[in-house]
Amino acid sequence: MTGTLIVGGGQAGAQIAAGLRDHGYDRPVTLVGSEHIPPYQRPPLSKDYLLGKLPAAKLALRNEQYYARKDIDVVTGTSVTEAGIGDDGGWARTADGRRFTFEYLALATGAQPRRLPGDMGSPGNLLYLRTVADADRLRSLLDTATRFVVIGGGFIGLEAAAVLRAHGKQVTVVEMADRLLNRVAGSELGDFYLDAHRRRGVGFRLGRSVTALTTGATGDAVGVVLDGGETLACDAVVAGVGVVRDPRLAEQLGLAWDNGVIVDRYARTSHPRVVAAGDCVLGPHPAATGRIRLESVQNAVAQAKVAAATICGRTEPYTAVPWFWSNQGTLRLQTAGLHAGATRRILRGDPRTENFSVIYLRENTLTAVEAMNRPADFATARTLLAAGAELVGPATAVADPDIPLADALAVPATTT
Ligand SMILES: Cc1cc2nc3c(=O)[nH]c(=O)nc-3n(C[C@H](O)[C@H](O)[C@H](O)COP(=O)(O)OP(=O)(O)OC[C@H]3O[C@@H](n4cnc5c(N)ncnc54)[C@H](O)[C@@H]3O)c2cc1C
Repeated sequence: MTGTLIVGGGQAGAQIAAGLRDHGYDRPVTLVGSEHIPPYQRPPLSKDYLLGKLPAAKLALRNEQYYARKDIDVVTGTSVTEAGIGDDGGWARTADGRRFTFEYLALATGAQPRRLPGDMGSPGNLLYLRTVADADRLRSLLDTATRFVVIGGGFIGLEAAAVLRAHGKQVTVVEMADRLLNRVAGSELGDFYLDAHRRRGVGFRLGRSVTALTTGATGDAVGVVLDGGETLACDAVVAGVGVVRDPRLAEQLGLAWDNGVIVDRYARTSHPRVVAAGDCVLGPHPAATGRIRLESVQNAVAQAKVAAATICGRTEPYTAVPWFWSNQGTLRLQTAGLHAGATRRILRGDPRTENFSVIYLRENTLTAVEAMNRPADFATARTLLAAGAELVGPATAVADPDIPLADALAVPATTT
């Protein structure tokens, strides 16, 4: 048995392959991805690609020449469905009957959209947004559909809503919680997005669940029925209600699992010959208490680098500061750090100007920044978070958007 088999052709899988070669790994590297194209960027699918501003050719993470030059064998259009492992390595089989052996296995299987219960009867105009094929289906509806209902007020739902409005569509977002971004951001940001999208003509139903879809003569959904009885007329429905992870390979391999492959800070799973990275993982982070799931490009890339280093026998723990971005028309959000566990937050600027930040502290220690159209706050925050900065003066200095963040927060002398 020789070489590394990477299962999953997304952001993390591509980075593990590149990372292995960057470390001088000279054994075979094979990447198997179930989609029909080599690894590509997902973020534009709900932004510029959906807007029609970015061509499909520009989505690719690396070109074919790169994989050829680095001697990385990329197998697309088939899934690894079976795998087994022993002390020295293992084997895997794909749905189309190929068999691979490996000394190391890297799982980078990502996540899949959480489906609505029973897919609500599976009408043809109910869409999810994860793959380029999903985005193409949504784009193909833009010619005919006028009224869109977006189920889910998270980042993907709001980004889709912004693009659909830019295409001149009528858009209503239905969110089960009482506020937007309930799971992933603080209330200031959720409240801000509600106002900002309303100003741009998006309708909202908060605190409402979808109980059914009504269908017309063609079988397509024509109405979204909410608890309480209201029915929203629609030509298409986009669901962005979170993601789930497929446990089947982890189960076959006997890996520790908790709605994600459990890894340590070196991206090692419970088997010494298997690493994992990206959206499929549940793992520790120095900024978090307990294990967390991070669903972002930054996490996929940083953790994949750690996984590649581990395979190459290096011990490089995952310490990178988490960061994320979301573009919703002119609303450009950048976040750094983790807001969960903060004990104080300071609003920096006026949300009505669409130019503000929210600063999160645990006691006096900076834990996260959400920066809306304030790239300088974001850039400074990343540096300060990495260094362990603290509030050094009055909170009013942090709240003042005209005072640079670096003047209001500083790194304690003992940690510099
Ligand atoms: C529409 C959209 C917008 C986003 N916008 C942002 C953003 O603005 N900023 C940000 O930071 N993040 C964003 N994200 C999240 C980010 O794209 C993900 O966190 C990142 O792609 C995770 O990478 P991954 O490699 O772990 O998983 P994925 O990208 O999901 O890749 C996993 C791949 O593995 C394949 N696979 C699964 N099982 C198997 C198997 N058994 N055999 C073979 N192949 C398999 C899957 O088909 C998939 O191609 C967005 C995601 C989406 C969907």
